[in-house]
Amino acid sequence: MTSRHLESRITHNYGSVAMHVVFIDIVGYEKRKPAMQCEVLRGFIPLINHSLRRLAENYASRVPLDLEELSSSILKVTTTEGVAVVFTFEQWPSAAHDFVQCLEHTHVAPQRHECRRFTRDKWCDCHGDFHIATEVRQGTGFVYRDANDGYGVAGSTVDFHRRSRELEFEGELVGVGSAPPLRPPVLHLEL
Ligand SMILES: [Zn+2]
Repeated sequence: MTSRHLESRITHNYGSVAMHVVFIDIVGYEKRKPAMQCEVLRGFIPLINHSLRRLAENYASRVPLDLEELSSSILKVTTTEGVAVVFTFEQWPSAAHDFVQCLEHTHVAPQRHECRRFTRDKWCDCHGDFHIATEVRQGTGFVYRDANDGYGVAGSTVDFHRRSRELEFEGELVGVGSAPPLRPPVLHLEL
């Protein structure tokens, strides 16, 4: 699906875009066994798609893009812990935070659980329930046509490997009581 919005950025701005990126992490995803990761994804992927559809339906009238165009202009990147959703709409700076609100409304966090490990650690290897944590980052980056004739996105704002290292580094710094390193403005929410 071609996005006129993204094509114009690629054509006129050499792909350069201002972006808001919502990282949605599945708590404990990497610690789970592969079979349980698949089980969790069966619930997680529809959650992302339902939330994006809700966002597009709610906001299609506020931006000069129809529903299909709006949906094709929002990029999703698979990360090691979940998904990063990339918004590149200058005329809609609150898109990322609006999306987090849609996620909050769509995701029903597991409330009561008989599994002691899940209750204690917020993840386990015997249930497909999951908690998610979100973080919004703001910065610049590049969009491009990828090898599958879809769109790819690059740059430090959306670089999830770099983010993992930063979060790890921060964790170490917090451990010794130092100030956190400089990084893009973020918003942490756990759902
Ligand atoms: Zn369990």
